[in-house]
Amino acid sequence: MHKLTLKELSAQLQARKISATELATLFLDRIAASDLNAFLHVDRDLTLAQAKAADVRLAGNDAGPLTGVPIAHKDIFVTRNWRTTAGSRMLQDYVSPFDATVVEQFNAAGTVTLGKLNCDEFAMGSSNENSFYGAVKNPWDKTAIPGGSSGGSAAAVAARLAPAATATDTGGSIRQPASLCGVTGIKPTYGSVSRYGMIAFASSLDQGGPIAKTAEDCGLLLNAMTGFDERDSTSLQRPKEDFTRSLNQSLQGLRIGVPKEFFGAGLAADVEAAVRAALAEFEKLGATLVEISLPKTELSIPVYYVIAPAEASSNLSRFDGVRYGHRAADYKDLADMYKKSRAEGFGDEVKRRILVGSYVLSHGYYDAYYLQAQKIRRLIAEDFQRALAGENRQCDVIMGPVSPTVAWDLGDKTDDPVANYLADIFTLSTSLAGLPGMSIPCGFGQGEKNGKRPVGLQIIGNYFDEARLLNVAHQFQKATDWHLREPA
Ligand code: GLN
Repeated sequence: MHKLTLKELSAQLQARKISATELATLFLDRIAASDLNAFLHVDRDLTLAQAKAADVRLAGNDAGPLTGVPIAHKDIFVTRNWRTTAGSRMLQDYVSPFDATVVEQFNAAGTVTLGKLNCDEFAMGSSNENSFYGAVKNPWDKTAIPGGSSGGSAAAVAARLAPAATATDTGGSIRQPASLCGVTGIKPTYGSVSRYGMIAFASSLDQGGPIAKTAEDCGLLLNAMTGFDERDSTSLQRPKEDFTRSLNQSLQGLRIGVPKEFFGAGLAADVEAAVRAALAEFEKLGATLVEISLPKTELSIPVYYVIAPAEASSNLSRFDGVRYGHRAADYKDLADMYKKSRAEGFGDEVKRRILVGSYVLSHGYYDAYYLQAQKIRRLIAEDFQRALAGENRQCDVIMGPVSPTVAWDLGDKTDDPVANYLADIFTLSTSLAGLPGMSIPCGFGQGEKNGKRPVGLQIIGNYFDEARLLNVAHQFQKATDWHLREPA
């Protein structure tokens, strides 16, 4: 039962083959037996109470497609009952007085919350090793990182501890862990998913989305989690859409843009081989490959690592030991209390970003760094528009690797923040442009010590083209079985 997709689980629930309570119990038992450190908070009673309510809805024929389906939430979405830590010591015992909009939407749909998932502190990281609560292990090889920052979400779905999970992506944190754990994830167009109650990292980039086994399941989850929210000032005012509406279209004639900048030096040979094989599979499905150029790709790293820390330094100023979270036990005066509380509450990577962010926003450096980065951000977005939009557009979707390598070993890059930043090369530009992007499993790397390590294919589309991306992924998943492979 734990191997089934959301779609299949939903059918089992509707047909009364299993109850929401039985299903929740099954996953809670799997979580209790797991040693991956994917979950930060589990509360059986709360979960089972939700399951019971779902069973009442199912019995009363008041159920939607997600009623009774268990999912888990990244610990960056605030929840009224479960603690919310954002992977930080700062919020160690924090319980929110309200639910994030995303959580509210899922609760209304009748999903059953299995618990809160580990992540890098305030979603800053690519390996989950920045979590105050310890790294998550990659279920394919427990000596490897799961990716980040949504490492708990990706590892939980890969290990079948949850059939699906929420996640967030600021510069790749849905796509990269999905890729490194061999699961499917999508970051929708910026503004599609409400950021209300999603603890802020870099507000102009942060975007929620789902991680699941299949593209079809991601569509079902997006149906529940998107929509206008007046409490989020950058929420898009668009009519509700059905993200599964295009799922059975042929790929005949689809033009796939293959950016040459995504296949240069630095891309590991095993990742390149798996991605090229996937592209060949798409050709068999009727698509044609077109070489394109996204010349500003390389600049996305310096641009992102100016803009994201700048916004983070502002967002994280609210953690002052007064309004939220950790307060130092001993201090001399108010300034000393701020300093000690923040010094104790934040980890090294968060402090590094606050320092960088404060620096690039300060008088004299603002024009040189922050403003310059904003200008290049626009040029990066224009690269994509040349490829994907207008009369002379070259392609319908763009494909390439998600990560330049398979998952690296735990501990390998912990002393070298820049090595972590460089691993974001293929995901940052999509985020800076606000475009939708997804990752689907497409193979495995070669020659690892302790087990196979998955490779993900990235699929990027123009704004609001999620339904097409999901169909493109779905057709691939109908023709291949990478998404059904499971860790031992
Ligand atoms: N790895 C990137 C960072 O550390 C992206 C993180 C994210 O998307 N939340 O900022």
